[in-house]
Amino acid sequence: MKTHQDEVLATLRTFRRMIGIPGNMTEDDKRMFHEYLERLYEPGHGPIFFYVQDKYGFPRHPPTRVTTTIGAKTWNPELMTENTFDADRWVNWTQPDFYGANKRPQSLKECLGDPNPLEQCVACRSLEACTCTYKEYKRTARNGWLKCTNIQRIPDIGFFGLFAHDFITQGTILDEYSGELVPHDDTVSDDESSYWSSLPCGPRPNPANHVVDGEQVPRPHGHVAIDSRVRGSAVRFMNHSCVPNAALFEGRAGTERRLVFVEALRDIWPEEEITIDYGLDWTESMDECLCGEVECRKPGKDSMELS
Ligand SMILES: [Zn+2]
Ligand SMILES: [Zn+2]
Repeated sequence: MKTHQDEVLATLRTFRRMIGIPGNMTEDDKRMFHEYLERLYEPGHGPIFFYVQDKYGFPRHPPTRVTTTIGAKTWNPELMTENTFDADRWVNWTQPDFYGANKRPQSLKECLGDPNPLEQCVACRSLEACTCTYKEYKRTARNGWLKCTNIQRIPDIGFFGLFAHDFITQGTILDEYSGELVPHDDTVSDDESSYWSSLPCGPRPNPANHVVDGEQVPRPHGHVAIDSRVRGSAVRFMNHSCVPNAALFEGRAGTERRLVFVEALRDIWPEEEITIDYGLDWTESMDECLCGEVECRKPGKDSMELS
């Protein structure tokens, strides 16, 4: 039986034959191509697997499914453009005292907490209260994720990475970091933590509770993790760099939802790899970092001999 996924791939292949060299795409071609990509990303069609793509975002021939080994397990990650919540994953979770009476989240919204007007709205980019919807954010962000959907294997290293197939200007929202909302677990391996992003959970704590001796203290660590090992958006393929060109931020879509999103820190050229900084703890835990930057925090032996 032909699945939605087969159908989309067949359409993409036909389209590729039609336009010949993707580098010569006209504006009309690009618009059509983007419409096809959007079909690939349409929600509600069941799992769509990630495929190795060429520098233009087309699936390679024959389409090769991305397989990753994380924490000694092999996964064929699935594409998911929105977070999912499964209450069963929270049955054994104990809410920290900080949040008051113990109450396990029962819904995606409860899990992420209420949108805070102090966070930036990802739809209108305002720090003021606004009435944007999650749907409006999706429309705004569409152009960003269409420019960064190509997943390629990095020669020599063998890992997959996320690459730009179009020019991306500084400040562009590339995509939401999405996955399954699960309790944060400090015991996950370093491999696994590369596929996690965390958010403070539950009803949003009152900032007044963060004042000790008249000083504002940082919020406690996030208690909900966005786990993208099995399902997630394309940005789950972003690798670490000590000098990244993108970063994760927390934001809100109007009054509807809180989310973690990826924003370009500078202009990014077509075919450039899109990277974020996984943080000091992560580089500390690694034997060596492969980012290759002059200012790398954990350069390998080879690069030290060169410098
Ligand atoms: Zn807004
Ligand atoms: Zn590095």
